[in-house]
Amino acid sequence: MAVQAETPLDAARIKLDFPILGKPVHGKQLVYLDSAASSQKPRPVIDTITDVYENSYAAVHRAVYALGETATERYEAARDTVAALLNARSRREIVFVPNATEGLNLVAYAYGDKFVGEGDVIVTTEMEHHSNLVPWQMLARRRGASVRYLALTSDGRLDPASLDELGSVENVRLVAATHVSNSLAAVNDIPALSAWAHERGAVMVCDGAQAAPHMPVDVRALGCDFYAISGHKMCGPGAGALWGREELFERMDPFMTGGGQIGKVELDRTTWNELPYKFEPGVPPLAEVVGFGAAIDYVTGIGLEAIHAHEQALVRYGWDVLSALPGVTVYGPPPPDRAGIIAFTVADVHPHDVAQVLDSEAICVRAGHHCTQPAMRRFGLIATARASVYLYNTADDFDRLAAGIEKVKRTFGV
Ligand code: PMP
Repeated sequence: MAVQAETPLDAARIKLDFPILGKPVHGKQLVYLDSAASSQKPRPVIDTITDVYENSYAAVHRAVYALGETATERYEAARDTVAALLNARSRREIVFVPNATEGLNLVAYAYGDKFVGEGDVIVTTEMEHHSNLVPWQMLARRRGASVRYLALTSDGRLDPASLDELGSVENVRLVAATHVSNSLAAVNDIPALSAWAHERGAVMVCDGAQAAPHMPVDVRALGCDFYAISGHKMCGPGAGALWGREELFERMDPFMTGGGQIGKVELDRTTWNELPYKFEPGVPPLAEVVGFGAAIDYVTGIGLEAIHAHEQALVRYGWDVLSALPGVTVYGPPPPDRAGIIAFTVADVHPHDVAQVLDSEAICVRAGHHCTQPAMRRFGLIATARASVYLYNTADDFDRLAAGIEKVKRTFGV
């Protein structure tokens, strides 16, 4: 396929920043199409992590010696970087967590256990990642509340009719939705959902795991109350962040307790540290958080607008290439109303077999239910293959994928 997608990024040059992408697999050039699961890491992030361990490692917020102060300064600088990324009103609104999953669980326990009660309703959607669905089921079970689900249209968007249907439900206390679906690639209208939640006196929790790495995010413009992200999906190591409105964080109890998050501990009572430390128990993971900051500097240095435009062009190209292949079915809304993720099936070949044959061509795609079993079930599926792009992918990657799928079809005689 000679036609190339027109994009504002020189992805072939960007690829050179990522050492792993230059390493052959099975003697072939690697095609990495699994960034929705986790992204690769560029040289500046790898170097930053090494530099932390070589030059400024100590226990954050505890050590009074010079090395400890440097460690704390670097950790806290990363908090400012995350606050700027999300346009938070204050650094007190940024809590470091291991990943989006823990950020969402923090809200379920620390907000939900205190403010959701018997007979209350939690509204979420059928497209959620299990990380933004199971915590609400568990919260409902603990508190005697119930969970209602916004349904999906046949092309994998939130069905506006189901929002109308749930409009008359009383006692809605919490609404949770993903910004971008990790299996169907739908992009949800978070400002509208936030307004819907607030009209009912509910808080709006947004799962930003698939959005923040790929597009500019402004939590004030989104109007939500909590927003969870994972650094490993945005070129960083294993650190994530939860943004929450300061007044809500103030009213919440801690999620986990222990060292560093306390004010005063007596034998029969404890007070809490100020925000955001109230939610950060234990010695923090310095290299991970500083590496997360370096990753944000890297992607914002390239520009999230440009990354988004690049992925939009790529996904249109990939969608056209894949949907033109006989026997291939693609899922979710058509471009441009989608993110850079394409779930697909190849005739009746099991997605794991598809992924295994593609691996023999050094092409990495995810196969499975993508931690969205209800969304899969909605489309009569158990699993799909999934190709997902990031700033280092090119149109060639989709050409290689198409050739790989032809090999799948030959292998299985479909
Ligand atoms: N939400 C969505 C939409 C995701 O895609 C993922 C990761 N697949 C998560 C939440 C959970 O992210 P993590 O595993 O980093 O906690």
